[in-house]
Amino acid sequence: MPRAADSRFLWVEEGEPQTGLVATVAVDGPFDRTYSFAVPDEWRARIAPGQRVSVPLGKRNRLTTGFCIETAEGVWSSTLKPIHAALDSETFLGPRMLELGAWIAQHYCCPLGRTLTAMVPEAVRRQSGFLRVRYAQLRMPLEQITESAPRLGGKQRALLQALGARASPAPVGELLTESGASAATLAGLAKRGWVKVATRREPPASPTINVPLSEPDFVLTDEQAAAIKRVSAMLDAQRFRVGLLFGVSGSGKTEVYVRAIRRALEHGGQSILLVPEIALTTQLVMRLAARFGSVAVIHSGLTGVQRSLTWADIAAGRRAVIIGTRSAVFAPCPQLKLIVVDEEQEASYKNLAAPRFNVRDVAIKRAQVEGIPILLGSATPSLETWFNCQRAEHFERLELPRRVRNLPMPRVHIVDVRDFPQTPAGPPVLSPLLEKRLAETLARGEQAMLLMNRRGYARVIWCPRCKRPVRCPNCQVSMVYHAPRARALCHYCHHSFDAPKLCPDPSCQTPLVTLGAGTQRVEELLQRRFPRARLVRVDSDTMTRAAHYQQVVDDFEARRIDLMVGTQMIAKGLDFPFVSLVGVLSAENVGSVDFRAQERLFQLITQVAGRAGRNELPGEVVVQTALPEALALLAAVRHDYPAFVEGELAIRRLVRYPPYARLTRLILSDPRPAQLESEAQTLAANIRETIQAIGEPHVDLLGPHPCVLERLRKQYRYELLIRADSAVNMQRVLDRLRGEKRLRAKVKSLVVDVDPVDLS
Ligand code: ADP
Ligand code: ZN
Repeated sequence: MPRAADSRFLWVEEGEPQTGLVATVAVDGPFDRTYSFAVPDEWRARIAPGQRVSVPLGKRNRLTTGFCIETAEGVWSSTLKPIHAALDSETFLGPRMLELGAWIAQHYCCPLGRTLTAMVPEAVRRQSGFLRVRYAQLRMPLEQITESAPRLGGKQRALLQALGARASPAPVGELLTESGASAATLAGLAKRGWVKVATRREPPASPTINVPLSEPDFVLTDEQAAAIKRVSAMLDAQRFRVGLLFGVSGSGKTEVYVRAIRRALEHGGQSILLVPEIALTTQLVMRLAARFGSVAVIHSGLTGVQRSLTWADIAAGRRAVIIGTRSAVFAPCPQLKLIVVDEEQEASYKNLAAPRFNVRDVAIKRAQVEGIPILLGSATPSLETWFNCQRAEHFERLELPRRVRNLPMPRVHIVDVRDFPQTPAGPPVLSPLLEKRLAETLARGEQAMLLMNRRGYARVIWCPRCKRPVRCPNCQVSMVYHAPRARALCHYCHHSFDAPKLCPDPSCQTPLVTLGAGTQRVEELLQRRFPRARLVRVDSDTMTRAAHYQQVVDDFEARRIDLMVGTQMIAKGLDFPFVSLVGVLSAENVGSVDFRAQERLFQLITQVAGRAGRNELPGEVVVQTALPEALALLAAVRHDYPAFVEGELAIRRLVRYPPYARLTRLILSDPRPAQLESEAQTLAANIRETIQAIGEPHVDLLGPHPCVLERLRKQYRYELLIRADSAVNMQRVLDRLRGEKRLRAKVKSLVVDVDPVDLS
């Protein structure tokens, strides 16, 4: 009988071939392959796919953790090492989650072990917050005990009888109360060998949100009813299908989600509702809790214990409705029937560490693996999703083209800031029109929201003589001036120092000026101009905790605040009925710098404009810009997504960018610029060779060239873009490159970003 007394050896009798259980393990590390291990008999009962194991690796047999992904009977060759241990009392990843993990690992070029590890939060693996619960059980039938020991004490007898009456092990606490016996009595019985006592780790009951249940009294719009009917049909069919719920702001998308979740509940199923940011969970959680009683919430602000207990509740089927940000896509639902992705176009759905997946796409894949429908909601769908609805078999569009209660869309004015006298610090922060409208709105006792998508006081600290900004020594970008303590702060690496007053160039020493407004300056200006208005600034400097943000949302909802100024944090999803004015202070700062700039501009303007006029009060929007002729802006003003998307798709097609192509971005970074450039060239040559060897005419390579952010955190940066006409062809090239170990370079870091969202 082979034994694993020492993890370095598998004791196999010489001469006779031994067979036994062999486990395939995906080790948590930078390995693009899996490894096989023998499973000694002592672990046989515990090892199953999804179980975490500890295995000896390499010549030194360093113990490393990994996930068992497959088991099979096989030959125990002499070179096969045995696993060292099974780590968990249960498996955290079922077969479908393993399948999902395998897809993520392949699609996003991330080692499988790493991917699986990322799918199960650490606190969940450690079962943080679980209690040790002791259980007792009889070791033999009750009669046998009473026969062999006829003179038992009353308490002993009561305890044994209580145990004998149960079919399963009894929690000790419960047992003692029930029988009136003491812990010492139990210990005595255990000592005599009649009772077995064991400890198990269990989650305590987790707290639930206490909101009184309430149903709204409105009647569904015809479009809502039609969309709900269609989604219900998808749920009844219990098959994979993607519905894009394309509904303008205020069209009542949330109600469609609620009814869909309810339908899933009728089928005895769980639903996951994904939202892009924690900020957005608060309002939605309250709304859904009022409809469903209890919801589970998963986001990055949870403590380890909260996370682990929530996970356990979901896994046990005690929570039917799950709301959360990125990691909620891996919620361990045994009965998943529906996934909803709200604001599916959001860039924050992209995971910023390996595996660099897009949650929306992982959610679609999960729905496919589970064989269930998924609903993607948006007023401004991503071009990828729109395109899929036109081309892909599983996608369909459900439309809510009008606001509920026939509310009109808000009126949007564009104000060209170049028409106004320039101040020394740039264009005026508030145009006369916006200032007038603000005064009127406040005078009527209504609320206003102002978007300024830059935090800090001033964007640049400028030397008027050298015509140069103060730059970050690590990143080469302009330092941002933060007012309260007069600090210069880099928004990329968080490096900061006291803002200089004079030009740092010793031969210049000219007094510096600050240019370009940020949220702090807007706040200061508004305070001066409207001293009686109750004002709040919402950006990542003021909203450091989720609870904070919750408070602001509550206050604004209760009209204890009149005016909210903030970054894009305030643009999304919030539903405040008394906002009648929305201002966009500098529309050119809302986009990104890459090929999605126009798309981002359209999305943000539409989103923030959508905050206005959501109740009886008519809404008005003032957009200030120095680039009034941008097509995205003109389309957003007319609330004309189809016109925007048509024009934008034509451009993307012309330049062969997504959705007409798939991209993989390789970012090389290193402190040595020459080494970096030559390594980037070598990598490019290798990739071109592989593309040619495969003979794939629909894949090409762009670059290498320096990134838009040429220097970041003291590292120089270069990028390469692999472009393919389809995901399948991209996969072929990436698989081959990985197989040939060609995705490597002698630089400090090489990041492989499949389907990149940010190209800065
Ligand atoms: P959005 O499409 O922007 O996500 P919401 O789902 O937030 O819109 O709905 C906007 C508001 O309209 C909410 O306060 C919601 O309660 C309300 N609402 C939803 N459906 C209806 C309806 N059929 N009639 C009246 N009000 C509705
Ligand atoms: Zn920096």
